[in-house]
Amino acid sequence: MTMKNDPTTARSIGLFGGTFDPIHTAHLMLAERAREELALDAILFMPARIPPHKAHLGGIAPPECRVTMIELAIESNPCFHLSRHEIEREGISYTVDTLRYLREAYPGAELTLLIGGDNAADFRNWREPQEIVRMAKIGVWARPSFALPEEVLIGTGYGRIEAPLMELSSTQIRARVALHRSIRYMTPDPVVEYIETNGLYRS
Ligand code: ATP
Repeated sequence: MTMKNDPTTARSIGLFGGTFDPIHTAHLMLAERAREELALDAILFMPARIPPHKAHLGGIAPPECRVTMIELAIESNPCFHLSRHEIEREGISYTVDTLRYLREAYPGAELTLLIGGDNAADFRNWREPQEIVRMAKIGVWARPSFALPEEVLIGTGYGRIEAPLMELSSTQIRARVALHRSIRYMTPDPVVEYIETNGLYRS
């Protein structure tokens, strides 16, 4: 087992929120690029309980399954950590509330919110975007088929994270499992095994 660094001593922390249903190789590669390019000491993978923009959709795997898959996927990286904060909170989690919590939990750390261009496009409609920008820096990366919405982020002091474009999504993985197709290398081997063993996404 890899010894993890202690996130409470981190001076810079990246918050990586998502549904992670399941976590996949693009998430991991992007988090590692963000860690390196923005010199982050720790990345917190924070699975959402009910993400605001997906709350109306069914079929999200139980929180404990998504959590376990993240743990399996990040096991070997000492800077990657799981946060159960949103999973354990009642109801919808808003980024602004999560950042407030992180400021209390990690008072010495500078926070960076990590988001893909597809999510960032909607940034101005999030709850209290001004507060978000006051509490955290923003690190944004491009996603294939989505323009990077730099105009939305002007004035936020965002940093751009350069990484290879990967046309990969959790939706594709779920669809392939349902069709009994291989998902090997789309997500780390232990996650592939977990999905098989627990019969996730079969229908
Ligand atoms: P789904 O297909 O279920 O909508 P997803 O693959 O988009 O899931 P999420 O957990 O919703 O995964 O994504 C979390 C974050 O990772 C988002 O900010 C999203 O922009 C980003 N992201 C996910 N996949 C990619 C990718 N292939 N390239 C760039 N960014 C990505």
